[in-house]
Amino acid sequence: MLHPEAVPANAQPAPAQPLVLDALPAEILEMPATALYQSLPGPCLIRLAGDDPRPLVVSVLQHGNEDSGWEAIRQLLKHRYQRQRLPRSLWLWIGNTQAARWRRRRLPDQPDFNRCWPYPGRPPATEQDRHEVGMFGQLVEMLRAAQPLAVIDAHNNSGLNPHYSAINRLDWRSYNLARRFADIVVYFTSPPGTMANACADFCPSLTLECGQAGQVHGTDHAMRFIDDCLQLPAVDAAPRPLGEGVVYHMMATVYVSPGVQFGFQPESHPISFVANLDHHNFRHLPAGSKLADIAVAGARCVLALDSHGHDITDDYFSFEHGELRTRREIIPSMLTLDERVISQDCLCYLMEVIDPFPQHAEPD
Ligand SMILES: [Zn+2]
Repeated sequence: MLHPEAVPANAQPAPAQPLVLDALPAEILEMPATALYQSLPGPCLIRLAGDDPRPLVVSVLQHGNEDSGWEAIRQLLKHRYQRQRLPRSLWLWIGNTQAARWRRRRLPDQPDFNRCWPYPGRPPATEQDRHEVGMFGQLVEMLRAAQPLAVIDAHNNSGLNPHYSAINRLDWRSYNLARRFADIVVYFTSPPGTMANACADFCPSLTLECGQAGQVHGTDHAMRFIDDCLQLPAVDAAPRPLGEGVVYHMMATVYVSPGVQFGFQPESHPISFVANLDHHNFRHLPAGSKLADIAVAGARCVLALDSHGHDITDDYFSFEHGELRTRREIIPSMLTLDERVISQDCLCYLMEVIDPFPQHAEPD
């Protein structure tokens, strides 16, 4: 056991500074995400000057296997802005290049980059995430000082999901910016350690979900949206009719219970999830829907936690007669068939449709 007095007060190393560049490294636009580590061995902020100096911040590859954001930026800079000056400064944050090398969300010895950003009440950093927590904390202060037009953090998901953007605050600027990307908007407050959440108190911030990695329409959609934002003089703060917009509130995160083996082949594991589980994303799934066979009698094989970390599993799921079933209607998102993602992140989120601006009367 280590006695506290055995650790000198100044033993903590200073947090690593984020690498900041004011030009693109040579040949970087020729590199797929898997090759970026050759030029950028760690996270990097690249500040590219444009006509309007107030920057648009775009973050890519916080999860190394989610490359639509990088592909969108790469094509935008290579083709549209190679000879033409940017209409607005673009600050590009390139995240986990080491995980991208291996097409992994994160490497086994790394924390999840998009859980390492500051928020009030954050518990002390651990051995595993100290480096990133310190670095990202410094980066947030740099971004705050720059007063960005907006922060856009591009992601992919591993299951079948529509394109959508997620916001952490219900205000018109966040919502209006989100609707420029898609009709579907997800509002969430947990998990709190995301980049978009850390930046939401000084500018509109979006987590962009561009479908599955490697799909051209996800890259194209992100590219059009980023270009649209670069040309935007300001983010509209005026109330508008919601029209086709649907806002989901993320109510709970569902995990496979710790230590429980799971899979998708029938009767292969203590939990065997039904095939095509990810077809349920963004669908209203009625009470009684079967999600898995359970081989272990009485096992509470999944765990649903609300945004405060309270266990609300029994509100949503039953574990009777060897089956995992829904106890009430649910709207899941981010269900995936990728067992590694389920282990490293979660099984899914549960959502409900909300009226984001109940005080706002729709104009006739
Ligand atoms: Zn992601």
